[in-house]
Amino acid sequence: MSGSTASEAATLRRLIDAVAQAVIAHAEELTALDQAIGDGDHGLNMKRGFEAVQADAAALAEKPLAEALRAIGMLLVMKVGGASGPLYGTLFMALGKAIGGGADAAGLDAGVLAGAFAQAIEAVKARGKSQEGQKTMLDVLVPVQQALQAGGADLLARLPSVADRAAYATVAMRAIRGRASFLGERSVGHMDPGAHSAALMVAAACGALEG
Ligand code: ADP
Ligand code: MG
Repeated sequence: MSGSTASEAATLRRLIDAVAQAVIAHAEELTALDQAIGDGDHGLNMKRGFEAVQADAAALAEKPLAEALRAIGMLLVMKVGGASGPLYGTLFMALGKAIGGGADAAGLDAGVLAGAFAQAIEAVKARGKSQEGQKTMLDVLVPVQQALQAGGADLLARLPSVADRAAYATVAMRAIRGRASFLGERSVGHMDPGAHSAALMVAAACGALEG
């Protein structure tokens, strides 16, 4: 049984396809970043996860937004692996939980999304025992959430550059969490792979919602 209208399903489908394709298309870049300060599997991990999401895209898009987000989160936990699988899985599952029933991808208000995103970020922090400033995906997720919360005109056009700048800002950081932290000072000078994957997803989602 369908839990959403045809236009909601079409918007959600565009979102899912855009995010999955962006991650899959940039897998080599993510791998290269993880080769520099990790074990070189981030691209493959994420590609495997989002290929599974892409394979289920039609069924996922028919679900109500909250349920689709939870299902995507579970797929990512099962398929991505590494540190990032449970963390991105938690992000999507918590986002679904926070958004709750009734919401749809086409009519989602920035304020509601900002609140849900804040809760999802808290769940990631709890799961990863991490916070911003430690050279992880959180260093992109947190500033993007803050920009969303602040609102204003042209949010969808502005958020990708907020995310991009935030990912670049991880170059100068020293890793305190994750595999890169084993390198200590030598983690400085490289972009965090998870920060880059997070920025890619933000840009793809904004592009899909704008288009
Ligand atoms: P692994 O490190 O197990 O090989 P991946 O390479 O797939 O897993 O993912 C690495 C990314 O996961 C890092 O670049 C970082 O952004 C993110 N990450 C790792 N540990 C944490 C943590 N505790 N909190 C938040 N993000 C983390
Ligand atoms: Mg890795």
